[in-house]
Amino acid sequence: MTTATAEALSDAARTFVSSGPHRLLIGAEWLGAADGRTFETIDPSTGEPICEVAHAGADDVDRAVKAAAAALEGKWGAMPPAGRARLMQRLADLVEDNADELAQIESLDNGKPVKMAVRVDVPQAAEHIRYYAGWPTKIEGETIPVSWPRMFAYTRKEPVGVCAQIIPWNFPLLMSAWKIAPALAAGCTVLLKPAEQTPLTAIRLGQLVQEAGFPEGVVNVLTGDGETGAAMVDHPGVAKIAFTGSTAVGREIGAKAGRGLKRVTLELGGKSPNIILPDADLDAAVKGSFQGIYFNTGQACNAGSRLFVHRDQFDTVVSGLAEAAGKAKVGPGLDPGTQFGPVVSEEQLGRVTSYIESGKSDGAELVAGGAPAADGGGYFVSPTLFTGVRDDMAIAREEIFGPVLVAMPYDDLEEVARRANDTEYGLAAGIWTRDVGNAHRLAAMLKAGSVYVNVWGPTDPAAPFGGYKASGIGREMGHANLDAYLEVKTVWTNLA
Ligand code: ADP
Ligand code: MG
Repeated sequence: MTTATAEALSDAARTFVSSGPHRLLIGAEWLGAADGRTFETIDPSTGEPICEVAHAGADDVDRAVKAAAAALEGKWGAMPPAGRARLMQRLADLVEDNADELAQIESLDNGKPVKMAVRVDVPQAAEHIRYYAGWPTKIEGETIPVSWPRMFAYTRKEPVGVCAQIIPWNFPLLMSAWKIAPALAAGCTVLLKPAEQTPLTAIRLGQLVQEAGFPEGVVNVLTGDGETGAAMVDHPGVAKIAFTGSTAVGREIGAKAGRGLKRVTLELGGKSPNIILPDADLDAAVKGSFQGIYFNTGQACNAGSRLFVHRDQFDTVVSGLAEAAGKAKVGPGLDPGTQFGPVVSEEQLGRVTSYIESGKSDGAELVAGGAPAADGGGYFVSPTLFTGVRDDMAIAREEIFGPVLVAMPYDDLEEVARRANDTEYGLAAGIWTRDVGNAHRLAAMLKAGSVYVNVWGPTDPAAPFGGYKASGIGREMGHANLDAYLEVKTVWTNLA
């Protein structure tokens, strides 16, 4: 960590970060990896190492699965629903009590503006845990009207068991909350693995889980990379896998889950279309579309990365976006004036830059951004906008996961719906219009798990979120995600 970075942190955040090398939460203990391996987590705003973190291997995964299984058999399994609810409420309180520290650690590790972490990541994580804290006392079975004489049948909903939860680096704390909350509400136990780029807030969350008073083994935090994740997926003691990340890894995990007959939910990539109809409020559409792609430096699975604008408004919208892009303040996450932070890693910088190069060499026209906004070793890319894009170019088809937007004109509604759906993905789609008929006609035509009308990207713990097609399997949020952590048992009793 540079001195300037250390000085930008609060005492609490600095103390946490410098208490490394950070360890694995397995059962009641914080342990080094069995084989002693560690890795460095890097500050994307400077390229400097922040601290060392334990790298969990297969032996650590095995120990964590045993701890999680013992918790199910022990105190946690025996705890009444109201007890689970109370612990979860306490955890949500602790997230709120430590909000500033969590936001700073997140900003340091991921690069996102600390302002945004304070406004979005941390409060939404707390709200998510709070929403699911309401569920344990409301998980009901049914009495079933079977047509047998003198037979009584009812269902029980039971926790699936030990869950492997693997998350990406774009919203590390929030994704941790999205994963553990429904699992805990259902009475499951978890192994949570943050991404190797951003392990810190999950470790801090593990400390808060202990402080809240959860029994040992209910939440285990394993830091590590894809190899760690694979060991979790492969472990026979894992009953359910919940993964958020790339479509490529999601396919691999889905295939393994199929062979192992493990329950699985996958929240994967996207190349989400955002459509501006001719009658839209153009100011609102430009502002919303700008945020829709560049929010979190384009590192959101539901980023609105393909913009379709009616030919009559195309030039107006493009110049509005280019002007806003030119004014964007790109900088270090911990700088209070920063609007967009760096991308998360050197690897990601290379990936985004190579897509920008491919756009140029395919003949698309760069109208904003493009060049890395290099300063001080950080992984900065300015908001980038392409026009003159054909639907078959790589920049129009592949998920870039960075601040790169392609804008394309269209002529009519059926045409734009067809082009919007011509993708392997189906996570989200947006529509900007004042015509309520067209809004809902198009909403029905678009093959996406979420459709946003005159807004981009709201989420709420009560509202299902997930993908059609290669964007995933199952839904996060709401009772849909709770059900993903429950088995249904039918009990038959002969009353004769
Ligand atoms: P990205 O390419 O954007 O880093 P990934 O899908 O590779 O996204 O990573 C998302 C999460 O999945 C991370 O926590 C990563 O460590 C984990 N991961 C990567 N490869 C595997 C794998 N083969 N099995 C299980 N987890 C994996
Ligand atoms: Mg990867």
